[in-house]
This record gives sequence, structure tokens and C-alpha cells, in this order.
Amino acid sequence: MSDHVLVINAGSSSLKYSVVDASTGEPAAAGLVERIGEGEGRHVHRSPAGETETTLSIPTHEDALRSAMDAFEADGPSLADLDLEAVGHRVVHGGSRFSASALIDDALIAEVTDLVPLAPLHNPANLEGIRVARGLFPDLPQVAVFDTAFHQTLPPHAYTYAVPTDWLEDHGIRRYGFHGTSHSFVSQEAARLLVRDPSDLNVIVLHLGNGCSASAVRGGRSVETSMGLTPLEGLVMGTRSGDLDPAIPAYLTRELGMSVDEIDHALNSASGLRGLAGENDFRELSRLRASNDERACLAFDVYCHRIRKYVGAYYAVLGTVDAVVFTAGVGENSADVRAASLDGLERLGITIDPDRNSAPVTGARRISTDGSEVAVLVVPTNEEWQIARETLTVVRA
Ligand code: ADP
Repeated sequence: MSDHVLVINAGSSSLKYSVVDASTGEPAAAGLVERIGEGEGRHVHRSPAGETETTLSIPTHEDALRSAMDAFEADGPSLADLDLEAVGHRVVHGGSRFSASALIDDALIAEVTDLVPLAPLHNPANLEGIRVARGLFPDLPQVAVFDTAFHQTLPPHAYTYAVPTDWLEDHGIRRYGFHGTSHSFVSQEAARLLVRDPSDLNVIVLHLGNGCSASAVRGGRSVETSMGLTPLEGLVMGTRSGDLDPAIPAYLTRELGMSVDEIDHALNSASGLRGLAGENDFRELSRLRASNDERACLAFDVYCHRIRKYVGAYYAVLGTVDAVVFTAGVGENSADVRAASLDGLERLGITIDPDRNSAPVTGARRISTDGSEVAVLVVPTNEEWQIARETLTVVRA
């Protein structure tokens, strides 16, 4: 029996795939099909033989997955040799219904379909990925791994918004949280790095990628997280505003005549770093900041200030903190963000070692001083591996 899992992350116009050995995390091959349904699509396939890039017409998600299968056939490794055990799908919103990964059947598909209003951009694409994969791999068990599931352990006082109770009871309006696969993986890896039992560790995880979220994890269970009903709440992100006064949308409607869709678009796609500095890619923002671009400098400060506020809040939520962990593209790579976010917190037991922080190394590592009471860690996230592991756990249960 192999431990190989095909991991699929279907977006509205893209499909990411990889075949991962669930026991080691090693990817046998991986790829990205982009611009599905947009005329000319692009397919990149990476395997031990190298990387191939193709441009071709990819009208549907089914064509995208077929193109991936063709690439395995042409460039290797052969799917037959990989002896796939199962398919694991990233599904963004599992609502209150799913607190763990689950085997996909018609009933699960119906429930995920019911959740579309909570994630109108993501769940339909995830469902399309599931439909296509079930058609092309009818003999393989398929598992849904939800972005929200890890945060289902939030207590009611953390997930309840202070709004009329029927909003929650009748419409499911509450905090769900996202990036759960990453927060779960990274908090487990932090325990491993510190040679501690996860059930005995309090951790603040800062996932800083294009989307950004923070979580407070007590004894391996998420007890608070920054994203809410949707991924818009919380930290400043590449293109999303994160927290703001909830009266602002009403103000924009009354004073500027903006429609609901215009406001939704502005807050999700034209805010955050892009809104402040005209640039959502953090590497570009860093270049602008290095040339003393005023807007980029302010955007950086707003971004780090928000992270610092959440660290303080989650410190208070947890009471004692063993580790603060940075992950994802920005968290793993930007020493400046890590330093600025945690500067001056010695009284909280948090002291970064500047040399360790700026050392040009990758991989899981400690960047706090030996004397720092709270360990500050950088832990590369690996959502594909976590999806593969959870998939096999469900299939073999
Ligand atoms: P996603 O949320 O799409 O998975 P990632 O975790 O890949 O995103 O993070 C993407 C972000 O990480 C981008 O803003 C990118 O600029 C930033 N990033 C990647 N490498 C670096 C780097 N070396 N220094 C600073 N930022 C980086």
C-alpha cells in the first residue's frame, strides 16, 4: 500500500494539484493550471524530470484536471506507478457542520452546497474540483479537508458576534476562521521543534501570506482566530482591509452612493497593502519601502501594528504563551516584519535575536534569544502535506 495522495485545490479560475507522500510530506509532482475558461490558459507541471510550462485552451476544470493527468503521463511520474490511495480536496467553508475532514459522498456535497452563501467565491469552485475528480478517479476515495474545521473548537464567547441572536440562529452569522489547515500544521510543527507535547503548549500562530490570519492555540486546539464569517476580518492582507469600523460600509453607501458589490470588491480586492501602497506583493512593497516611498512605509507600519495588536490580544486570551510562530510567504521570509511586529515586547518575555532573525536560512527555526521566555519560531507551512495526512487518516479510519 502506498501513502500517495492526490491533493487538489480548485479555485474559480485555477486548479493546484500535487501528489504527496502522506508519511514524509515529499511531493512526487505538483502543478498549477491557471486562467481556466479565459481563452488562453497556462499549465506548469513540476516533477523530478524538471518543470514544463504549456499554454493551451482550458475551458473547464475538467479540462484542467485532464491536462494534469496528461502531464503525469508525458513528463512523469506515472500515476499508475504512484499507486494513489485517495484524493484530498481543500474546501474553504465547512460552516458549523464540519469540525474535521470527512469522506466525500452525495450527502457531504449537498451540505457544502448549502454553505455556498457563506463562501460564494470559494465553495462553488471547490465543489467543481470534487465533481471533476470523482468523475476522473471513480475508484478512489475522496476526502474534503476544510479550512474552517480546525477553528471549530473556538468557545462560544470567541465565535459569537454581539449582534441580534437570530443572526446566528437563523443565518449562521458567527466567526468561523480560515487557514485552519495551516494553523493546525504549524502549531504541531512548533511543538515538534520545541520537543514538547502539543497538548501541553500555548501558541500564537501568525499566517502571513496573500491572506493573513492569526490564531491562539491552547493545547493543540484553536481558541481564537482573526478571520471571521469570511476571510475579510482581522489582519491587514495583500488586498483585504482586515478589521475596520463596521459603520464604514453604511457610510460609503449613504455618502458616496456605493453599492454593496462595489464595497465588497473594494474591501476584498482593492484594500490592504494594495489600497495603501498600490502594491499587494510584499516583495514589491519591500522594494518601494527601501526607496523610502512614503505610502509603502506607512503600509508596512499599518501591517505590523495590526499584527502587534493581535499578538497582545491573544497573549491575554491565552494567559501564558510558549511560542509565537511566523509562517507563509511573508511570515517565513520577511525578517523586517517579524522584527517590527515584536519589537519592544521584552516585558512579555518575547526577545528576538537579530542575527538569528536575519540569517539567510530556510526551514523551521528558532529566532528568539536563548533567554527569551517565549520562543519565537519561523515554521514553513505545508498545507498540501496536512491535507494528505488528514485524507489518509479519514480513509483508513
Ligand atoms: P498564499 O496566501 O497565496 O499561499 P504565500 O504564502 O505564498 O501566499 O505568500 C505570498 C506573499 O509572500 C506575497 O506577498 C509575497 O510577496 C510574499 N513573499 C514571498 N517571498 C518573500 C520574500 N522573500 N520576502 C518577502 N515577502 C515574500
